[in-house]
Amino acid sequence: MNNFFFRQKKDKINYIYNMKKILLLLTITLFFSCNSSAQKKETKEKEEFQVSKTDIEWKKELTEQEYYVLRQAGTERPFSSPLNKEYNEGTFHCAACDTPLFKSEHKFDSGTGWPSFDREIEGNVAFGSDNNLGYSRDEEHCATCGGHLGHVFNDGPRNTTGKRHCINGVALKFVPIK
Ligand SMILES: [Zn+2]
Repeated sequence: MNNFFFRQKKDKINYIYNMKKILLLLTITLFFSCNSSAQKKETKEKEEFQVSKTDIEWKKELTEQEYYVLRQAGTERPFSSPLNKEYNEGTFHCAACDTPLFKSEHKFDSGTGWPSFDREIEGNVAFGSDNNLGYSRDEEHCATCGGHLGHVFNDGPRNTTGKRHCINGVALKFVPIK
């Protein structure tokens, strides 16, 4: 008799134990599935730009050179851009989406043949790594449309930021102060 009761009790304990295990498993599964969908959403949002167009649309809107630089991360021929020698007061905007990216007061002659700035308009330019040339350097692009602008190096003017933002003139549009 005693033995029978003991066994029943043991079965009950086993039952509760198993239920707890199932509940725990369910909680873990739910937690992870919620978590992974949240993470997915976050990375997706990061990839999307405020101004987002299809490749065909960009090709239609931009000139061949603009498309090559902005959408294919190409580099214009040095000394080819008239903006290289542009020193009037104003702002340099993204040629694709018109976001102001650099100010004339931060432009300097780097002698490289590409428009150079010691700083960007903060928040309007985004950075990412680019290994096109086989070595790592800091690629920069328009934060609004994702258009490739150029690269940033650490050999800029020492008396200011020390940075040299080496930008393709074809990716820029100069808007003078009236
Ligand atoms: Zn842009």
